[in-house]
Amino acid sequence: MRIVLLGAPGSGKGTQAAILTEHLGVPHISTGVLLRAAVEAGTELGAKARSIMDRGELLPDDIMLDLIEERLQAPDAEPGFVLDGYPRNLSQAASLDGLLDRLEKPLDIAIQIDVDAEQVIRRIARRAAEEGRSDDSEETVRTRMQVYEEQTAPVVDHYARKGLLTQVFGEGSIEDVNQRIMAVLKAEAID
Ligand code: AMP
Repeated sequence: MRIVLLGAPGSGKGTQAAILTEHLGVPHISTGVLLRAAVEAGTELGAKARSIMDRGELLPDDIMLDLIEERLQAPDAEPGFVLDGYPRNLSQAASLDGLLDRLEKPLDIAIQIDVDAEQVIRRIARRAAEEGRSDDSEETVRTRMQVYEEQTAPVVDHYARKGLLTQVFGEGSIEDVNQRIMAVLKAEAID
């Protein structure tokens, strides 16, 4: 099963993606995790990514496409994937459509985790305290929310137009949200 998870920063999509991959036996592919690993490892990509991520802006689309193209072709992604953090704008959504067409691996579903802005800000503040992510500072979070509204929110409509979108209410416990997602997958016969 090939799944894209969408949602604002702090919507819980990373947490949900991690739980889902355990249930489904496919890898959780998070571009944010890949980029943070590159920063940590001090690679050329990491050096480019660091300051952009710390500002809460998006890396160039061509760099992201190379990264995702390589990752989606790794053997563990053969049975499918849960994609988290990509695509982040309409151009990336079109690139992903093209890539998956070429690989003959169409998406099964795009799931948007829907939470209100207040909730998101509370969650990010908590994550900043717990994980110490350098892009969880107040100013960066504001930029990331703005980038989401302007560039990523249209991706939700992109998948709606393709008939692939399902929205899931993202409030409540982690377990509640997971059960809603599992119910959607069951209804779509994707599990
Ligand atoms: P995330 O962990 O998904 O919130 O991503 C953290 C940061 O990594 C983002 O704020 C961006 O700077 C960068 N990033 C992650 N995914 C992408 C993407 N698809 N396109 C561009 N930049 C990205």
